[in-house]
Amino acid sequence: MNKADSGRLAAQLEQCGCQLALRWEAADLLIINSCSVRQSAEDRASGRLSALKTLKKERKDLAIALVGCMVDSNIEDLKRRFPHVDFFLPPQGFEPLIRWVQNRSLISTHERVPPPPVVSTPSAFVPIIEGCDNFCTYCIVPYRRGRERSRPPQEILGEVEALVQKGAKEVVLLGQNVDSYGHDLPKKPDLAELLTLLNSVPGLVRIRFLTSHPKDMGSRLIETVARLDKVCEHISLPAQSGDDEILQAMGRGYIVAQYRQLIARLRSAIPGVALSTDVIVGFPGETEVQFGRTLSLLEDIRFDTVHVAAYSPRPGTVAARSLHDDVPSAEKERRLHEVECLQEGIASAINARLLGQRVEVLVLGKQQGKWFGRTRMDKLVFFPDDTGRTGQLVQVKVERTSPWALQGVSL
Ligand code: SF4
Repeated sequence: MNKADSGRLAAQLEQCGCQLALRWEAADLLIINSCSVRQSAEDRASGRLSALKTLKKERKDLAIALVGCMVDSNIEDLKRRFPHVDFFLPPQGFEPLIRWVQNRSLISTHERVPPPPVVSTPSAFVPIIEGCDNFCTYCIVPYRRGRERSRPPQEILGEVEALVQKGAKEVVLLGQNVDSYGHDLPKKPDLAELLTLLNSVPGLVRIRFLTSHPKDMGSRLIETVARLDKVCEHISLPAQSGDDEILQAMGRGYIVAQYRQLIARLRSAIPGVALSTDVIVGFPGETEVQFGRTLSLLEDIRFDTVHVAAYSPRPGTVAARSLHDDVPSAEKERRLHEVECLQEGIASAINARLLGQRVEVLVLGKQQGKWFGRTRMDKLVFFPDDTGRTGQLVQVKVERTSPWALQGVSL
């Protein structure tokens, strides 16, 4: 979502006449788009902001903006910590910065309509719903990004058509809880309806969406994903824990048996579907036995990808206010490492099954002399080729596999 926000802000600034600086030291305006989902992300942004103090002293004309989730209602505290920063803007509250740029007129002042992001890759992010109503007890998102607000389907359709005209082949529909799309709109369209609408856009070849919530993913959506040819067989479905008590303390709204049933329904409706999940280890009160249940869930389901994070209390959340962060850091690290080791073995075996097979790759760019792209099931694939391939669908024969990527030759 932050990448999408950055893209949209960059597009708006470009429309005001700005150009991307090739080196940050050469910029007139520096923008840090922050994330506050974990303490480590906030610490990184704070470190960068502090490092800019000297530059600001040397260059009084330099403007610095901190935007994104770190900016909450307590702006005074941020102003005290970072007096050299000129703008503090919450997610989607970029308007004052745009106005300032226009007024400096660096710049033309034609009518402002939020433009679709500039496409620099064949895969584009399209936010469809902002914010979250779920209030999982550990999560800062509803406090920083507010309640759910869906964009009208026709507006999304228009943006997707514009993106395709600029070269996008794939769109990734984004939302903190994408499955609840549309409930706040007058005609209450749902995600299934939106996917059906976008599936008919000529020139668009792939559609993905993330992130889903296990309590909101219904049969209608599963059937729609199975039916539509452009919607990829790839579902991101955070489990967070394999233990019912921990799930309850997290406020997730489902139990492990329901999660397992949902996975079974997905696998039966969408053969070969690739599954990714998110897991938090070291949640307050998580015992070794409860952590073991998370490992068992991962072993049983065998996800293609697992994103694992150690619990980090976020000030203002229910968990930070009322639960004691009692799992020591070293133990959290150990559990995190255990999940990573387990997943490495599982992903290694899943990917090894693709050895010798032909896969279809949407090429996204070039890295270290090789083209890279993704399959419909989100596998990262590298292959050498002398001709320009970006944006093409290429058939690749897989010759080597690892837990993280596939290597092959184009056919
Ligand atoms: S559903 Fe996701 S974004 Fe919403 S509160 Fe829970 S963890 Fe945070």
